Amino acid sequence: MRSYTLIAPAKINLYLEIIGDRPDGYHELIMILQSIDLADQIDLQASVTDKIRVRCDNPQVPSDNSNIAHRAASLMAEEFPEVFAKYGGVDITIHKNIPVAAGLAGGSTNAAAVLIGMNLLWNLGLTQIELEELGAKLGSDVPFCVAGGTAIATGRGEQLSPLPSLDAIYLVLGKYRSLEVSTAWAYKTYRQEFGSSYIRDANSLVSRAEAVHSGSMVKAIVHRDAAQIGQNLHNDLERVVLPIYPQVLQLREVFASAGVLGTMMSGSGPSVFALCESQQQAEQVKFHVEKTIPDEDLELFITRTTTHGIQVRSLV
Ligand code: ATP
Repeated sequence: MRSYTLIAPAKINLYLEIIGDRPDGYHELIMILQSIDLADQIDLQASVTDKIRVRCDNPQVPSDNSNIAHRAASLMAEEFPEVFAKYGGVDITIHKNIPVAAGLAGGSTNAAAVLIGMNLLWNLGLTQIELEELGAKLGSDVPFCVAGGTAIATGRGEQLSPLPSLDAIYLVLGKYRSLEVSTAWAYKTYRQEFGSSYIRDANSLVSRAEAVHSGSMVKAIVHRDAAQIGQNLHNDLERVVLPIYPQVLQLREVFASAGVLGTMMSGSGPSVFALCESQQQAEQVKFHVEKTIPDEDLELFITRTTTHGIQVRSLV
């Protein structure tokens, strides 16, 4: 019997622009995604039964077949029924460090880890591209989580082009424990409130009248210019989340007042990050926020950008 331990990093969105609606109900996006070293640990073990079982040490996360890690294992079983019949089930244990429903792709990175781990456990020999394609069936952020590092994502977020890696830029990440934002709600509300600013082009695709500035962010990343990255952070979903969640807006304002390189909500929120010049500045900023917002519900992390995606450690 073999088992693997996988380290599955969270992501932040350095850039998220909604450029239009799609007939399939999703949105056409331009996102710039970045792995960070805040990570979950996933243990995968071949089971003596033919069942897929998931356990997680965070009660907010389901253990049944609605867990995206379970869905990832079921997808592998469906895609490779003969291998499933040969090897049997799998036990998945998730040690959660990434805040849940936070806009940090916590679920998506667990799914990516299961795909990568089962590829090894079952000796499937799938390539990274094949794993990304399987990941796209589970969720728009899963292909990025398979790849990791820094990438520009288009389509509904599943079409990836790698960007030069950004290593070890420090950030402070804040998340109110009791606040959760549903990604589906955030996009639906955006469409209801701002969909009228889209135009219909010659191909009958609905697209936004004015683009924002993803080019400036790409340039800043290519030059590894942290100050310019901070200046060019962008997230359209702030327009729907910040008015509803005043605590998130306040956290963002407190970060900004601490003189950071830039601050932004990640994904559909409610987590907010602040890019810092150094580890020392990140520690000062965290201290400043703790003093200014003395709320035990607010969880703060110091973390860093990282160049890698899922890391594999073989146990047996
Ligand atoms: P994304 O940035 O990919 O939209 P998120 O960080 O906003 O994701 P998740 O942490 O993935 O959100 O959680 C979204 C929902 O999915 C939660 O309500 C949670 O209960 C459920 N869920 C299912 N499986 C998992 C998992 N393995 N880890 C975390 N949440 C999960």
